[in-house]
This record gives sequence, C-alpha cells and structure tokens, in this order.
Amino acid sequence: MRCPYNHKKGTKVVDSRLVQNGRAIRRRRECLSCGTRFTTYEEYEVAHIIVRKRGDEREEYTQEKVRAGVAKALEKRPQERNLDEIVQAIEQDIFAVAIRDGIVSSKRIGQIVLDHLAKIDEVAYLRFVSVYRSFGSAQSFRKELGRLEKRKE
Ligand SMILES: [Zn+2]
Repeated sequence: MRCPYNHKKGTKVVDSRLVQNGRAIRRRRECLSCGTRFTTYEEYEVAHIIVRKRGDEREEYTQEKVRAGVAKALEKRPQERNLDEIVQAIEQDIFAVAIRDGIVSSKRIGQIVLDHLAKIDEVAYLRFVSVYRSFGSAQSFRKELGRLEKRKE
C-alpha cells in the first residue's frame, strides 16, 4: 500500500482492530519514508461468500436464510437480546470461518447457529436441531442432545 502523501511504497501497521461488529478490520499504518500515519479498512466482500451444501451444491450466502432459521427457532420464546444482535453474532462467526477461502459449508453454518442457540435458549436449540436438515438422522439428533446435556454439566 502506497503512502497517500508521498506515494512511496512501504508502510508498517501500528494498530489493528475489529470494527463494525467484527465485519471489518481498521488498521493504522505508518509510512516508512515520511512517517505519516493513515488508516485503511479491510472488509469482507459479503457477496462473495459461498455456501457449500450437501452434494457439493453451492449458493451465495445470504443473511436472510440464517435470520429466518433463527427467528423460527426463537418464535414465541422469551429473549433477552433482539434478533438483530443474535444474527449479527452468528454471522460474525460464519464470516470468521469463510475469511480463509470465501467458502463455508451449510453444515458448519448450522453448527455455528446451534452453538449460539445453545447459549441462548434450550427450546430454540432443540427446535433448530429438529428442523436442521444436515442433522436429519435420528443418530445425529441424539448426538446433539448429548452435546446439550454436556453443556449443562
Ligand atoms: Zn509517506
């Protein structure tokens, strides 16, 4: 990255922090030749996150799908946090997985949602397990129940 003042190449990062709920990284850089500091932002190209489904089918990631699943699981359940906050926290974890190669599996997304719901509401968690297709078999459902029991210990 070139210095915006003297256009020389070569900067060092003096500070990095997550902003926008972890969706972007703000970096303070210092030009190695003139010492001027400037700020850069690094953001996800959300449109480029691809969800790999079972059978290797792929589709573009949309927040709406995650939101719909979470909203359904939490329907008529008492909530301390609003849906936006919950979905944002889930999405942050999804992006953290996808940041490597822009791909995340639908199974991984389901697991991330389950991890969050388990912390929020047991009923919502079980509802999500029961509708979540990648956990379609009775065996994997029992495995999830086992995981939930372990959390309580
Ligand atoms: Zn400079």
